[in-house]
Amino acid sequence: MSSAARLHFEHAMLPDGWGRDVTVTVSDGLIARIERGTAPAPGDDAHKIGLPGLPNLHSHAFQRGMAGLAERRGAGDDSFWTWREVMYRFVERMGPDEMRAIAGLAYVEMLESGFTRVGEFHYVHHAPDGTPYANPAEMAAALAGAAEETGIALTLLPVFYAHAGFGGQAAGEDQRRFVHDIDSFARLRARSAEILAALPDAVIGLAPHSLRAVTPDELAALVAMAERQAPIHIHVAEQQREVRDCLAWSGARPVEWLLDHSPVDQRWCLVHATHMTGAETAEMARSTAVAGLCPITEANLGDGLFPVRDFLAAGGTYGVGSDSNVLIDAAEEMRLLEYGQRLQCQSRNMLATEAGGSTGGAIVRAALTGGGQALGTRSALMEGCAADLVSLDADHPAFIARERDAWLDGWIFAARRGAVDAVWRRGRKIVSGGRHHARDAIVARYRAALAGLFG
Ligand code: ZN
Repeated sequence: MSSAARLHFEHAMLPDGWGRDVTVTVSDGLIARIERGTAPAPGDDAHKIGLPGLPNLHSHAFQRGMAGLAERRGAGDDSFWTWREVMYRFVERMGPDEMRAIAGLAYVEMLESGFTRVGEFHYVHHAPDGTPYANPAEMAAALAGAAEETGIALTLLPVFYAHAGFGGQAAGEDQRRFVHDIDSFARLRARSAEILAALPDAVIGLAPHSLRAVTPDELAALVAMAERQAPIHIHVAEQQREVRDCLAWSGARPVEWLLDHSPVDQRWCLVHATHMTGAETAEMARSTAVAGLCPITEANLGDGLFPVRDFLAAGGTYGVGSDSNVLIDAAEEMRLLEYGQRLQCQSRNMLATEAGGSTGGAIVRAALTGGGQALGTRSALMEGCAADLVSLDADHPAFIARERDAWLDGWIFAARRGAVDAVWRRGRKIVSGGRHHARDAIVARYRAALAGLFG
């Protein structure tokens, strides 16, 4: 794999707009200097269109291995809950080697599509029979191994999961691999942090799985456990049934309950938050938490549509995630976010933030800002940030006779495959011509792992 001390872009997406003839100097994996109006020097890795790498704020990497397996009609109405049964059966036999092999493929696909950091919402902790591994963070180590091998930046969100439903219902037999109490979770998290120390810029947060899976006392203990800057992620209000169950339990809706009972602030990422009233939407925006939107998964699971226009009008911040990884594609994630709103409102250019503004530009900037905030980092081409970059292939037909934000619109709405050319992590090029440098070996190992799981 090549490393470049200097990258040159004819056009680069900088925090204050597109810069012309931009040289990015990399030192120790970080952007040491950004200069505009420079000619490429001999030896520079020169490209036409450069962007910051995108954060993928919500992933369950192992679910990549069951992509497409839950698309058969069942006996009754299919829903998120029948999908979850398929997921529980898939997870039954998976060990650390399979976790690492499947996550490796997921991370390769993320990098090839332009994501350079992943928020891994990690809940499969224990051995198949439910007993903890000798190293309680064995599965976290498998994910960290996949991140190291593929080069993707990792924000690990160890998940606390203790109950099957609201009010502290006992966890089910099929949840035995996920379950912790607060003390064992603290040990898992400490061990996970030791493992992450081997990665150059990993971040550790924590994640109460959902209001279904934690009691109010446990949620308070988790918030107390989180360091001052640690990201806190939670699934919330993904499904109408969850809203009904929460109302029956507490008299409040999930987002309403969370905002009333937890110190939700800019460290928090509320994943999905699909089903909210207007008052909840405005209140969530005011909290400064990030809305973690996963449009492909939300469509696949039949979740519903997040009220993104009202949320933006109230000043809210969002980012995007690939969640179930049924299809990993940053551009399609952003495209579907916009198209869902168009279909619902029978209108166009819903997420552009100003008259005449580019929709693609607005979504990419939101994904960078919100995703970076949610993952405890900053995703921008500026000095001091990690040198995580993406170049678009200027020769792709979707980019011809376009420039600046129109490239982003072309990427999201018009490009199909082949739009992403190269990807760098900490200044090291790990994707060229749209292919991850280790793709063949990682696909071979994934094939072997799946053969073992399904054999
Ligand atoms: Zn999720």
